Amino acid sequence: MRHFDAIIIGTGQAGPPLAARFSDAGKTVAIIERNKFGGTCVNTGCIPTKTMVASAYAAHVARRGGEYGFTVNGDVGVDMKRVKARKDAVSGRSNKGVEESLRGLKNCTVLQGHARFQSSNIVVVNDQVLRADQAYINVGGRAFVPEMPGIHDVPFLTNSSMMDVDFLPEHLVVIGGSYVGLEFAQMYRRFGSEVTIVEMGPRLIGREDQDVSEKVREILEAERIHIRLNAKCISLAKHERGAAVRVDCQEGEPEVFGTHVLLAVGRVPNTNDLGLDKAGVATDQRGYIKVDDQLRTNVPGLWALGDCNGRGAFTHTSYNDYEIVADNLFNADHRGVSDRIQAYALYIDPPLGRCGMTDAEIRKSGRRALIAKYPMSRVSRAYEKSETQGFMKICVDAETRQILGAAILGTGGDEVIHVLLDVMYAKAPYTVIQRAMHIHPTVAEYLPTVLTKLEPFA
Ligand SMILES: Cc1cc2nc3c(=O)[nH]c(=O)nc-3n(C[C@H](O)[C@H](O)[C@H](O)COP(=O)(O)OP(=O)(O)OC[C@H]3O[C@@H](n4cnc5c(N)ncnc54)[C@H](O)[C@@H]3O)c2cc1C
Repeated sequence: MRHFDAIIIGTGQAGPPLAARFSDAGKTVAIIERNKFGGTCVNTGCIPTKTMVASAYAAHVARRGGEYGFTVNGDVGVDMKRVKARKDAVSGRSNKGVEESLRGLKNCTVLQGHARFQSSNIVVVNDQVLRADQAYINVGGRAFVPEMPGIHDVPFLTNSSMMDVDFLPEHLVVIGGSYVGLEFAQMYRRFGSEVTIVEMGPRLIGREDQDVSEKVREILEAERIHIRLNAKCISLAKHERGAAVRVDCQEGEPEVFGTHVLLAVGRVPNTNDLGLDKAGVATDQRGYIKVDDQLRTNVPGLWALGDCNGRGAFTHTSYNDYEIVADNLFNADHRGVSDRIQAYALYIDPPLGRCGMTDAEIRKSGRRALIAKYPMSRVSRAYEKSETQGFMKICVDAETRQILGAAILGTGGDEVIHVLLDVMYAKAPYTVIQRAMHIHPTVAEYLPTVLTKLEPFA
């Protein structure tokens, strides 16, 4: 049996920096990875998809060359082998970087294999038995595959197997109209596929406000992506084209015939094969590990970080989990998950940057609030770039004058949102932004203008 000060399971966004902190503190640490170093973000999530979104954007702009005053000789053709090679190079660089940095750490033992708890302080990997008084679980999640009728009769893709696709699907049917599904849908449409999105709910990205959902739908439909909503009873069957997807919607044909199907209907945590029962770690009904505000599980000496604790589903939430745990352990700095403000982006083009509460959440909270909305078509930076789709929306508390939430759906929205987010963290009133001089020409320079339009919620 090998003894360590700490064991870390998984090399996602939290495990590797935590291993470095243990190493810097002169502690011995074992870190275990069963698949690719860097986890979801690096290998099958953010990094590869945003790299491909960039290729799709370039093709889209090339097709719009006439608007910008240039011509492309012949049709814009996309070579999927080269798109994949570029994606593999960018993603591979990060994957290699994570592995090399872990292997270069002092006092750190890197093990490859599936880790399983034998008890709360014993972890088995391959034929090795490891013991530590502290263990950190950073096992992430994977695509959810629902037991829908016909699911075993038709080959389907997930975000992971999409990474091996080096050809252009003739007609990609994306099941799931949320963040992952929409990004793949738009990028493949821009690569040249016919794309249909099938969504069970009455609108896309159902957690967002109605106006955001509708605008996103408009943006996608303008690129001739087919959208089928209210698809209550989705089922799959073999078809000569590839797959028949029964959508049973209120409007339109009852079936969609695609050559390929991408399942993007949510994620499940990788906690079912970890021996959590042997360690006595409690999970919720969906398998997420229950944690407190400092990310401690119910078992002393065991923590859970990242997607597997159900407290966030993003790279930045997982990394923030690392910061919370490390600051509590090494800096005696009392930090908690409740300190953070919800923030994320949807990387369609133009992107959606979001922070804080939605309008619906604000209304539900019963507080008195003000709202301002401004179209991107009136933002000079946007029309200079011929990228005028979308709007900016900001909500503030009528009494404290603090920002409650915002959505920036438009060019640069993923960056601009941070202006509002940081003022929210500062707990400063919105008037700080209103009085600030911003740089021209930017999207952010309009934030003070938007804030002059605040009026009570209708
Ligand atoms: C298509 C897609 C696009 C995304 N885009 C974005 C984005 O733009 N921005 C964003 O913030 N987030 C994005 N996300 C979400 C983001 O990728 C995840 O939230 C993030 O990677 C979660 O990190 P993590 O640290 O929790 O775990 P992960 O990165 O999932 O890592 C967990 C690691 O643990 C390993 N592991 C699991 N079980 C074991 C075991 N028993 N033994 C040993 N090792 C094990 C796994 O192999 C994996 O390497 C995207 C996700 C997807 C699917």
